[in-house]
This record gives sequence, C-alpha cells and structure tokens, in this order.
Amino acid sequence: MSTETKWSPEFKGRILAALTRAGAVTACPRCAKRDFGLADGFANWGIQPSITLPMVFGGASIPVVLVFCTNCGFVAPHALGILSPDDLRAGT
Ligand SMILES: [Zn+2]
Repeated sequence: MSTETKWSPEFKGRILAALTRAGAVTACPRCAKRDFGLADGFANWGIQPSITLPMVFGGASIPVVLVFCTNCGFVAPHALGILSPDDLRAGT
C-alpha cells in the first residue's frame, strides 16, 4: 500500500473555494507575495491535555490543511473542521 497522498483537483478546488469564502485570500504575511500552493494531504496537530504531564500520542488532534507560499515557504494551517466540515467527513 502506497503512503503517498495525492488529492484530486476537484477536492483541492473545494478546499480553495472554502478558503475564498472565508476570506483567506490576502497576501503572504512574511513576503507579501500572492502565490500559494496547497499541500496534498492533511496534517494532524496533536492536542496535549497538559504541559506538565507526559506527552500523549494518538490522542485528540486537529486536522489542518496546509497552504504554503511558493516564494518564501511560509506555511499557514487552516482547521478543516471549521473551514469545510463537509469535506472533513467526505475525506478525499
Ligand atoms: Zn511568502
């Protein structure tokens, strides 16, 4: 089984449409350019219940889509559950 992730153009289009509806269309906060890419897969940010307890692996997480600036590499995460809950349920 391949672990390579590749989103379809249709699915990426739905994500980009959701970003546009949310107003997430401004220039890069680091270099002010306007050329972005969308990573072909989710990242999951692990949620830790405490900073003093041992780290929990495999617990709660926030799935995010990653938009990156093609000029300077700045990466912006967007919580998919807020951006587009239907897409979260549908997966790829
Ligand atoms: Zn940039």
